[in-house]
Amino acid sequence: MDKQFRVFATCDIGEAIDVLRKRGYEVEVYPHPEAPPKAVILNKVRSGVDGLITTLRDQIDAEVFEAGKGSLKVVAQIAVGFDNINRADANRYKVPFTHTADVLTEATAEFAFFMLGALARRMWTAEHLTRDNQWGFWHPYLPFLGDEVTGKTVAVIGTGRIGLAFIKKCVGFDMNVLCYDPAYQNDAFVKTIQEIHDLRHQRGLVKERPWIRYVPFEEALREADFVSVHVPLLRNEESDTPTYHLFNERTLSLMKPTAYVVNTSRGPVVDEAALARALRENWIAGAALDVYETEPLPEDSPLRDPAIADRCRLLPHFASAARITRLSEQGNGRTLRAGSDRCVGRQLRGRYHKNALCREQRRVCRLNRRLQKGPRENRWTGVVFQIGNLRVWGRKFTGTMDRCGPLLGCI
Ligand code: NAD
Repeated sequence: MDKQFRVFATCDIGEAIDVLRKRGYEVEVYPHPEAPPKAVILNKVRSGVDGLITTLRDQIDAEVFEAGKGSLKVVAQIAVGFDNINRADANRYKVPFTHTADVLTEATAEFAFFMLGALARRMWTAEHLTRDNQWGFWHPYLPFLGDEVTGKTVAVIGTGRIGLAFIKKCVGFDMNVLCYDPAYQNDAFVKTIQEIHDLRHQRGLVKERPWIRYVPFEEALREADFVSVHVPLLRNEESDTPTYHLFNERTLSLMKPTAYVVNTSRGPVVDEAALARALRENWIAGAALDVYETEPLPEDSPLRDPAIADRCRLLPHFASAARITRLSEQGNGRTLRAGSDRCVGRQLRGRYHKNALCREQRRVCRLNRRLQKGPRENRWTGVVFQIGNLRVWGRKFTGTMDRCGPLLGCI
C-alpha cells in the first residue's frame, strides 16, 4: 500500500480494529461509549480520513461529504439500515456507503419472535407478579390471562432478509402468514413455506393446514392476530411507498382489538403518540417495541404511560444484540467484522469480500429490476463498483437504493 489508508471509527469496534491495523490501515477510534458530536466527525473528515466506520447514531449528510471532498472514499456502517446516511447527498458527492446486511438477520428475526411471544403470554407482567409478591393463589383465570401464539395469523410487513427469517420462525408455531411488501414479492419463498406447511399437515403434525400468502397492506392489518414490522425507514421524499409513520391512527385502527404489533425495524415507522392512544383506548391488545422515534426513549414519552405498561413492552434497540452477532469467539463478532471488512473492501482482494459482494450485487441487480420508482437522486444509474482488484459490473440499471446490500453507494 503506498499511502496508509486512514480510518476513523465513531465507536469501539473491538478486535476488528486489530485486523485493520494488521492489514496496514491507520485506525483511530472514538474512545467514548456515546456517539461523538457531529463536530468531531467533521474535524476527522476534514483532516483527510479515507474511510469512516459509523453507527446508526451518526448523521452522515452533505456537511460530512463536503468536509471530506477529495479524500473521503467510503462510509461503512456497522448496522443494517442506513436511514442516518443521506443517500441523495452520498450520491451527489459520489461516496459509496455500506452496511452489514445479513450478519444480524437471524438475531433480529428471532428477537422479534421472542418479543411477540413475551408480549402475548404476558411474561413481563407475570414475572412482576412473582417478584412483587403478588402471587397469592393459583386460579384458572385470575388475575389475568395471555394469548396463545400457536396456530394464529401473523402479518409480516416487509419481506426482505429479516422478514423472511421471521417467517421461518413462525412455521414452527403453525402460524398462518400474511405477507406485505410493495417492492418485491418472493413467490418462491412463499411456495417453499407452503410446501413445508403442507408436509407437516400431511404427516399429522398440525391439525389445521396453515397457509401463507401475499396480501395488500390493509388486508394484512385487518386479518392478523399479530403484526411484525421489518421495513427500512423511508421518509416521504425517499420513496413512492414511504414507511415513515406507516403505523398511524388510521392504520392502527384497522387492526383487530385483540391484535398485537411488534416493531424491530426503525422507530419513526410507528407514530408513537398514535400507538399510545391505540393502547390506551384498546384499539389493539398490545405492542412490543425495540426502536423509537427518539433514542434513547425520552423520559416524557407517551409510551411510558403507566396505564398501558402491562400491554406495552419497551426494549432498548436490542434485537441484534446477541453475542455471536456483536462479539463472537472469532474476535470481532459478525457485525463489527463485516463493518470493518466493508470499509476496506475497496482496497482488499480477500475471497470473503469477493464472494459476498458478488452474491449481494447479483441480488441487488435482480431486485432493482423489480423496484418501484424513487426520487431521481436516490436511484442508481449504471453502477460499476471497483473493489480492490474486483470489478463488479452493474448492468445499466436504474433503481432506488431501497434494496441494498453491503455496498450501497454509486460511482
Ligand atoms: P431488507 O432491505 O432486506 O428488507 C426490507 C424490506 O422492506 C424489503 O423487502 C423492502 O421491499 C420492504 N419495504 C420497503 N418499503 C416498504 C413498505 N412501504 N411496506 C412494506 N415493506 C416495504 O432489510 P432487512 O435486512 O430485512 O432489515 C429491515 C430493517 O430492519 C432495516 O432497514 C433496519 O431498519 C431494521 N433493523 C433493525 C435491527 C434492530 O436491532 N432492531 C437490526 C437490523 C435491522
